[in-house]
Amino acid sequence: MGVPEHVLVVGAGLGGLRTVEDLRRAGYEGRIGLVGAEDALPYDRPPLSKQYLAGERDRAAIDLTTADDLDELGVRLHLGRAAVALRPGADGHEVELDDGSALHADAVVLAVGAAARAPDGGAGVHVLRTADDAGTLRAALATASSLLVVGAGFVGAEVASTATAAGIPVTVLEAAPVPLARALGAQVGALAARLMTEGGVDLRCNARITALSGTGAESADGSTVTADVVVAGIGTRLDLGWLDGTGVDLSGGIPCDTRGRVEGLDGVWAVGDAAAWTDPVHGDRPRHEHWTSATDQAAAVARDIAGDVAGAGLPPQAVPYVWSDQFGLKIQLIGRPELADAVLPLHGEAFGDDGDTGGPIRGTVVGYLSGGELVAVAGFGAARRIARYRRPLAERASRDAVLAFRDALG
Ligand SMILES: Cc1cc2nc3c(=O)[nH]c(=O)nc-3n(C[C@H](O)[C@H](O)[C@H](O)COP(=O)(O)OP(=O)(O)OC[C@H]3O[C@@H](n4cnc5c(N)ncnc54)[C@H](O)[C@@H]3O)c2cc1C
Repeated sequence: MGVPEHVLVVGAGLGGLRTVEDLRRAGYEGRIGLVGAEDALPYDRPPLSKQYLAGERDRAAIDLTTADDLDELGVRLHLGRAAVALRPGADGHEVELDDGSALHADAVVLAVGAAARAPDGGAGVHVLRTADDAGTLRAALATASSLLVVGAGFVGAEVASTATAAGIPVTVLEAAPVPLARALGAQVGALAARLMTEGGVDLRCNARITALSGTGAESADGSTVTADVVVAGIGTRLDLGWLDGTGVDLSGGIPCDTRGRVEGLDGVWAVGDAAAWTDPVHGDRPRHEHWTSATDQAAAVARDIAGDVAGAGLPPQAVPYVWSDQFGLKIQLIGRPELADAVLPLHGEAFGDDGDTGGPIRGTVVGYLSGGELVAVAGFGAARRIARYRRPLAERASRDAVLAFRDALG
């Protein structure tokens, strides 16, 4: 396919916005449409659990663009409209919207993100994905004298941190043995647990919740927690039912090759939380619900669609990166820790060969190895150090090479 005449981007969040901006940056001069289910211009989600929830930023400060800027880019906006069907065709695709109208485009980019998973039967329990969710939660916390957070993933931990900083007593119930278990693994997650308890949170892991409501929870061990406000941070779900008619297997997200082209659908790309790009090194198709993955993928897809008119070539697929601000520290994770079979203490005093040492957490850096090769690095308040590990990560350095690199860093 040559350079398309009309690119339609579905999903007006971070990935969708960056795609349209990067298309123009890459020299694309054709028509661009941007469809968004939310009735709002693209805004940034990380502050929703941090500065916006804390009341340090107002709603306008989290907008990622303005209507004027998009107008200047020549982007036709369809906000407050969800796509409900995609009908691929030999001469372009048809995207049906929830008002019954249809848009035709010869290139479609799916940037539909993920939605918050709601707990079973938890009426009155807050979730946090959208600016509206955050506004409601922020208002509730303003008068709350206690908070229960169910789930200690990144979002739950950050809400707990923000509320604690505001002086609200917080209880966290987590089903796994440690917080951030999925992101950091059990051993390194022990540091996240200590960070949380040292921050003043009543953290209860291995919790088996049997009943949950907007006023509290009961657990299988008979304990109960009551609170003025209850938030569930129990992960995300993908809303991809509207793509069922395409015949694509969506069970692991939207399957893409290494450039974001959707497998089996010519002229369709996907970016961001919903996209499962092929990892060129490991050959599998992980999804990364990370801010930087959405922006990196948008840049690559825009250049692929524009036909590289700017002549810069396609960027290599970036190493996944995620950060989280909690309890006064920035936790950073580069790479794919879920592939690891061993961890390797690198810097700082909190983590030794037997795991958590009880030492100060700030400055701690831990490596993750798979088959003796470096696949990820996690840092706690160690921003400068962790950035240096991008090279050994890209080279899949051996354990000995990583230790030599660490020693050279000093
Ligand atoms: C509270 C919170 C805090 C976070 N903090 C961090 C952080 O500290 N660090 C980090 O790396 N990442 C963080 N993230 C994750 C990061 O924000 C996401 O990875 C990023 O927003 C993904 O961008 P996206 O474009 O894929 O999805 P989104 O930003 O979710 O945008 C998708 C948009 O598509 C719309 N949409 C969905 N379906 C349709 C449809 N059928 N038709 C039209 N529109 C549709 C949605 O309404 C949404 O507006 C955080 C996320 C949340 C919720």
